[in-house]
Amino acid sequence: MSEGPGLATTRDGLAAARAALDQGAGPGPVVLVPTMGALHGGHQRLLRAARTLAGPRGSVIVSIFVNPLQFGPNEDLDRYPRTLDEDLAMAAREGARLVFAPTAAEMYPGGQPEVTVDPGPAGRLFEGEFRPGFFDGVLTVVLKLLHLTRPAVAVFGQKDAQQLALVRRMVTDLNLDVVIEPVPTARDADGLATSSRNRYLSAADRAVALALPRALRAGQASAAGGADAVLAAARGALRAESGLAVDYVAVVEPGTFGPAGPGPALLVAAARVGGTRLIDNMPVVLPGAVHPTGPTAGDTAIGGAADDAARH
Ligand code: AMP
Repeated sequence: MSEGPGLATTRDGLAAARAALDQGAGPGPVVLVPTMGALHGGHQRLLRAARTLAGPRGSVIVSIFVNPLQFGPNEDLDRYPRTLDEDLAMAAREGARLVFAPTAAEMYPGGQPEVTVDPGPAGRLFEGEFRPGFFDGVLTVVLKLLHLTRPAVAVFGQKDAQQLALVRRMVTDLNLDVVIEPVPTARDADGLATSSRNRYLSAADRAVALALPRALRAGQASAAGGADAVLAAARGALRAESGLAVDYVAVVEPGTFGPAGPGPALLVAAARVGGTRLIDNMPVVLPGAVHPTGPTAGDTAIGGAADDAARH
């Protein structure tokens, strides 16, 4: 009979279950999958990657916590979907060993924390600009979850590319002893990236939302023309859908979210449909070799294009 995962809802319960994972001969790596629950195909992909990384002797821990610290005053904290029973079923199907689903009081016993993680300049761009304090909240809870679960590896989705970049930066800057593994974005058959917030979309909203992946694909298809061409194609596709309110569309360097040079870059975008905010991104490879003796005119043009790319 296959056993489902253990469920810990307190720090003490987690500590006991976590200690048990270290018992026995040659225990394998612990892999953490941090989530806010309402698990979907994207999370499933993370769970499968985690299971593979853990190997036959390792263990997967899934955390499910809707982190109040990363929600702004006018955001959807209260109505954020909570589906613990279904989440536990998915965790069981995907071979997770332990689910940590604490309350806010358990995670923040002293109420609002006074000491938090500053995400730095890259944390104030794009998502950080449209959601002030968002990345302080994300990095603070990720750091706490890493301390509580002590994983060898933690997996994060490329769907939230700026979050992934900032978590990696935190691991480097704060010398955290964990390996961060990225997992590619899962999409539904119509191209929309799976998201817990997609359930807010009506059928009509969803048809409008599809302009977002369509625009990213259009940008990708224009990559040979450089960052300007990528942006022009993406913006054109977004403008064609009047129901979409675009927060930003830009071509960025994937590690810093600064201006992209030649080579691998990310086309990132955020938009609202009805009351639902969606973010997405796709990789692009920008042309133009780096000149061995210094920057070329082409580099300058691409840097400039990426600079003004920060605004739609
Ligand atoms: P969330 O529950 O939305 O906070 O997401 C938890 C983790 O799942 C984060 O690392 C996300 O980047 C990742 N994730 C969410 N949606 C997707 C998706 N469609 N594809 C891949 N990863 C995703």
